[in-house]
Amino acid sequence: MKIDIAAKEVWFLTGSQHLYGEETLNQVAANAQEMVKGLNASGQVPVKLVYKPTVKTPSEITDTCQAASADKNCIGIITWMHTFSPAKMWIKGLSILTKPLCHLHTQFNAAVPWNTIDMDFMNLNQSAHGDREFGFMMSRMRKKRKVVVGHWQSERMQQKLGNWTRVALGWDDLQNLKVARIGDNMREVAVTEGDKVEAQMRFGFSVNGYDSSDVMAHIHNISDQDLNHLLREYEEMYTLSASLKEGGNQRSSLVDAAKIELGLRGFLEEGGFHAFTDTFENLGELKQLPGIAAQRLMADGYGFGGEGDWKTAAMVRALKVMAVGLEGGTSFMEDYTYHFTPEKAYVMGSHMLEICPSIADGRPTCEVHPLGIGGKQDPARLVFNSPAGPAINASLVDMGNRFRLIVNEVEAVKPMGDLPKLPVARVLWDAKPDLETAATAWILAGGAHHTVYSRAITTEFMEDFADMAGIELLVIDKATNIRNFKDTINANEAYFQLFQHGR
Ligand code: MN
Repeated sequence: MKIDIAAKEVWFLTGSQHLYGEETLNQVAANAQEMVKGLNASGQVPVKLVYKPTVKTPSEITDTCQAASADKNCIGIITWMHTFSPAKMWIKGLSILTKPLCHLHTQFNAAVPWNTIDMDFMNLNQSAHGDREFGFMMSRMRKKRKVVVGHWQSERMQQKLGNWTRVALGWDDLQNLKVARIGDNMREVAVTEGDKVEAQMRFGFSVNGYDSSDVMAHIHNISDQDLNHLLREYEEMYTLSASLKEGGNQRSSLVDAAKIELGLRGFLEEGGFHAFTDTFENLGELKQLPGIAAQRLMADGYGFGGEGDWKTAAMVRALKVMAVGLEGGTSFMEDYTYHFTPEKAYVMGSHMLEICPSIADGRPTCEVHPLGIGGKQDPARLVFNSPAGPAINASLVDMGNRFRLIVNEVEAVKPMGDLPKLPVARVLWDAKPDLETAATAWILAGGAHHTVYSRAITTEFMEDFADMAGIELLVIDKATNIRNFKDTINANEAYFQLFQHGR
């Protein structure tokens, strides 16, 4: 599977009114078209921006918002008030709009032309107050939205706008996402549970249960040709340990792993699933816990969560869609073990097997080792380190009355040793602001041990995402202070009781 965004659009709406006469309105339209052209050409916005004719009356605004809401390919709208656009005209349109909104607060003209500026210029370039009138209406209606401020030709503004469109892409994908759970949650585990009905109402994605026998049915139909082709691909892409090469004493384990990958792929493709979970306790006839299969499916854009973790599976998928075309990679992750030294403490993130090779530093090795749990055959997995550099960990938990998204900014570092006996992919990171504060805050927030780890997505994306979904966001970064963090949790507790489902 490849993530395809070619058909997706963001509509660009320019607000005005009839007060200024034909000549000014023609200029407004021409400027807006030039702006859309410039933004599309900037290379910063991954989705096609589509110019819409200037909206000047309540009915034009309502019609455009209605059309945007109904259009399958429209993932969001950008609004800009080149001139003044009295905002009571927007009430009906905004009240029926179902797509994310980014309020672009910019001005067509950059610097004031000191020697020639006159009232005509002032009346054309008046977004400084036109956008404030619009902003009031959005706030008065309690509408969650993104505000991006800056001249439209500045790279910083274009990047912010581009990042927001990426989040809108992820949001759009969730609206149709089907998550397949192969088996149930790991028994007695709490944080991977949650309200699947509420999740579908809030985020759009559906979660339904299947059995390993549904995957087995596909495994039984694998052709020798497909199997051999996949084994060759493993040989080309990864460094196989000697025992896994043709004639090696563990070769049959690799063959079984390849069959599981083909079976899983077939099952996911047939059902139109773009995310899935499995559980080592519910493997049925599957000979191994899917290791290399889950890893490679993630690398192809599928969401994945271990031990039935459907929330993380959906989030892995959403972040992968947001990051399409960006460098860095995104993976399912788990805070696994700590490295405490007198000077500093680090987290080693990993999982039993299922870390996505999109975050690999160099060519992974492919190995087979015992798993120790689940009572199945020794599974094949890809083993690698991940590059140093900034990343985030994001966790979605169900608080009973709301979903909470927790984000921790981290700095991945090079492991201090070679880890020759560790048979799983891993990342070592320095949690911001320091492990003591980060882990205290994370645990107070109820953040899960499972996360989405991304080198491509930043906190700002997650902030935009939380606004689109109307959910709580708690950020742990270099500014985090535990006493303030507790106050934020308490304030949010009250806020989300008072304003259920604000979106
Ligand atoms: Mn786990």
